[in-house]
Amino acid sequence: MRTRFAPSPTGPLHLGHAYSALLAHDMAQAAGGTFLLRIDDLDQSRARAEWEVQLKDDLRWLGLDWPEPCRRESEHLGEYEAALDRLWDMGLLYPCHCSRRDIREALSAPQEGAPIGPDGLIYPGTCRPSAPPVGPRPSGLTLRLDMARACSAIGEPISFQETGNGPDGKTGRIVATAQEMVETVGDVVVARKEMGAAYHLAVVVDDAAQGITQVVRGEDLFDATRIHVLLQGLLGLPTPGYHHHRLIRDADGKRLAKRDDARAIALYRSEGLSPKDVRRLVGL
Ligand code: GLU
Repeated sequence: MRTRFAPSPTGPLHLGHAYSALLAHDMAQAAGGTFLLRIDDLDQSRARAEWEVQLKDDLRWLGLDWPEPCRRESEHLGEYEAALDRLWDMGLLYPCHCSRRDIREALSAPQEGAPIGPDGLIYPGTCRPSAPPVGPRPSGLTLRLDMARACSAIGEPISFQETGNGPDGKTGRIVATAQEMVETVGDVVVARKEMGAAYHLAVVVDDAAQGITQVVRGEDLFDATRIHVLLQGLLGLPTPGYHHHRLIRDADGKRLAKRDDARAIALYRSEGLSPKDVRRLVGL
């Protein structure tokens, strides 16, 4: 069993991160497996070396350890480019020039309550070509995955094993048909103009490169998992098991975000709480 915790070094780790990391570490330990740390610093405009130092310090203080050196996404850009090339050569990607506003406007026309997917509004297909683009993959452009074509390239429903709980208590074998993928996910972004590979693409390349057999992460990513499993299939990568866990919420029931510095682990540390106290606070 190999699992990982993959924070982005863009702010302080808070109680939600502590829960995720501790749970993954505990599960690995119980199974006699390995816990890995990965630094998800793909977005170089927001990643900071200081946050990486701080998050490692917080995790060690919590009692976690992992093999060093840990994988840092910014050191593997060539692997993401190769995966994008492969999808492009399969005729599954196309450039998109729409702004968020273009998408909103295209969707707000006659129908109400535009459908929302794992990445927000479901792309209305404005830039989708009728035939796959020819020639080499363009760089410096937003690229979308043609979901209908991608699903027919796979030829069978998307499925994965969930051992935690998705929203609505979904667990066990989770299946999504091509029609569901088209209607409830749509043409997701796999490369961004400003930063190259997007999260969905990078996470499947990373998990495969690290030999992850069990992904442990927050249930906010449950709906995105279908995208990851589809990309694994297209890229010939193995699909790990998934364990999505509950989110740690504040007193108002809102999930914690990076800006919730008030719940930063560093703050609890400075107030004299012990790692055991933190475990208790997150219900472990
Ligand atoms: N860096 C991502 C996050 O912090 C990791 C998500 C994942 O575990 O796949 O949300």
